[in-house]
Amino acid sequence: MRPELTETQLLGMWETGDGQASPVRALLLAAAAAPPGEAVADLTLADLNALLLDLREGSFGSALPCAADCPDCDEPLEVSVTTDELRGPGRLNMPDPRRDPAKLLAEGYEITYRALTGRDLLAVDPVSPGARRALLSRCVIGMDPVADVLPEGVLETVAQRLADLDPGADTVLPLTCPYCRHTWTAALDVADYLWAEVEGYARRLLHEVHTLARVYGWSESDVLAVSPARRRFYLEATAG
Ligand SMILES: [Zn+2]
Repeated sequence: MRPELTETQLLGMWETGDGQASPVRALLLAAAAAPPGEAVADLTLADLNALLLDLREGSFGSALPCAADCPDCDEPLEVSVTTDELRGPGRLNMPDPRRDPAKLLAEGYEITYRALTGRDLLAVDPVSPGARRALLSRCVIGMDPVADVLPEGVLETVAQRLADLDPGADTVLPLTCPYCRHTWTAALDVADYLWAEVEGYARRLLHEVHTLARVYGWSESDVLAVSPARRRFYLEATAG
């Protein structure tokens, strides 16, 4: 069973996350899908994505329609990707990246590094000029020899290895243009995608509450207690 947002949960979540930064919303969504008491901020990005994909599938189904422009011929494409296609390979028999940091050698440094977590995203302002460096530096938990500032090349080597340490951290769509056969990959941020859906649903729902409250004199909780199918009937009756 995939976790499913109720309409009341969805409205509450939208109200809490409205105007918040993207990582805050991602963690709000993930918390709704996680077992009670799970500290979602400490999950790796792949684990967070797995929760978000479960919640998306349980709440809105497994097909995600996406729009993209071909970078080669500029044709607009409409594609659909499934939650299964976006799920990482899983971490069966793999070390837990939170408990088991990895080591690498780069430019004479022995670096011990760990996977990125939700807490790292919360801590770094994504639009600040040093955001990428700040995030990568947080993954470095040990170095030999010790340096105040690690060379850019060392941090880039860490960046390249993060995908192996935490498969599923980056969700990408492989795309092929049907017009010119150009192939490329596009990044899809599952949390942003799901948040846009939550926001759209919440706004539609509140609009329905508004209409039905005005016509029938119902309260918000009266309207939410009516099933979506019955609500549709009343709305159609109102419009007719
Ligand atoms: Zn094309």
